[in-house]
Amino acid sequence: MNKIKVYQSEENGKIVLGVDIQDPHANLQDLLDVWQPLCDDTLIRKEYALGFHDVCKGCQVNCCQTAYVIPDIIAFKKIARELHLDQATFIEKYFQPEKVTAGLLRLHPNHCVFLKGKICSIYAVRSLLCRFYICTPLAGATEELIYKISWTGAAATQIYAESQGLLPSGKDGPLTSFDQLLVNLLKEYQGTKMVEAFLQANDYKDVPLEMFLP
Ligand code: SF4
Ligand code: SF4
Repeated sequence: MNKIKVYQSEENGKIVLGVDIQDPHANLQDLLDVWQPLCDDTLIRKEYALGFHDVCKGCQVNCCQTAYVIPDIIAFKKIARELHLDQATFIEKYFQPEKVTAGLLRLHPNHCVFLKGKICSIYAVRSLLCRFYICTPLAGATEELIYKISWTGAAATQIYAESQGLLPSGKDGPLTSFDQLLVNLLKEYQGTKMVEAFLQANDYKDVPLEMFLP
């Protein structure tokens, strides 16, 4: 039996993409393994892909042009290692300074600092927000699941960075209303078992999916 099944169905008159977790012991890496091929699947209708049915690689519209990315803790550590940078230097070079001042670890945007010639230069270690984004309608439960996982991972990064003294102690940078929404969301996850699982994990396979399910 597959641990996780990918399906397409109709929801509110739209074709949506969803996942069904069939094994209660499935972990986050299992979910990423079934999700990754969707980027290359030309049968799925993608709103911004060439002709609506193209692979994500080299996409001309490219969601990375405008993405708002706070890396999850596992990606944060992996990207710093990949770049051979200590974490403080990684933040200094690759994160938006005014957001860091405000206490938010957002990668330099518009376009993303890692986008080179329409290709992600850190693809193998990119964060969960990047891995899960796909411009197609998702089943409600699936959307909720992947956003809960991605933002929990991001909350863990914020908590880790604060504990390591990587964020300024007095936070006073400008926050947009969207930033403020994120700050509130990240606070909501603090102290949860889900964030603890991310903080203790070395890799995605160490994060059980069960705790993210309703
Ligand atoms: S998910 Fe992003 S890269 Fe893929 S087709 Fe949509 S806009 Fe392009
Ligand atoms: S890290 Fe890579 S996948 Fe994520 S937004 Fe930047 S270029 Fe795109």
